[in-house]
Order: sequence, then C-alpha cells, then structure tokens
Amino acid sequence: MQTPNKIELDDIIEMKKAHACGTKTWKVTRLGVDLKLKCTGCGHEIMMDRLEFNRKMKRKVTTLDS
Ligand SMILES: [Zn+2]
Repeated sequence: MQTPNKIELDDIIEMKKAHACGTKTWKVTRLGVDLKLKCTGCGHEIMMDRLEFNRKMKRKVTTLDS
C-alpha cells in the first residue's frame, strides 16, 4: 500500500498556514525523526517532528512555480 504523503528530500511542500513572509511553500532539507524545512520565500529554516508536519502540511508540490 502506498502512503499518499510520502515525503522525500528536496520535495516542495505547501503548508496550510503561510509563513511570516507570506510564503506557503517549504523545501525539505533534512529527513529523519524530525524534518528540516526551508522556507522558499525567505530561506528561514525550521525543524518539526513528523506528527506536527503531517498536521501542518497541505499538499506536496512537485515543482515550484515562480
Ligand atoms: Zn518565510
């Protein structure tokens, strides 16, 4: 069975809530027990665990349209 929200390194993820800079898309820069995400708008990096991530993510964006 395939997991619908399988996340891989360098994936672009859209979050439900926009970052302070107004950007909703984040790039996955580290995968582990915790995920590290980099804001595609301002470059700010955050860490969050998978449970929190699953709650906050809206969808996976395959390509980043600019
Ligand atoms: Zn930002």
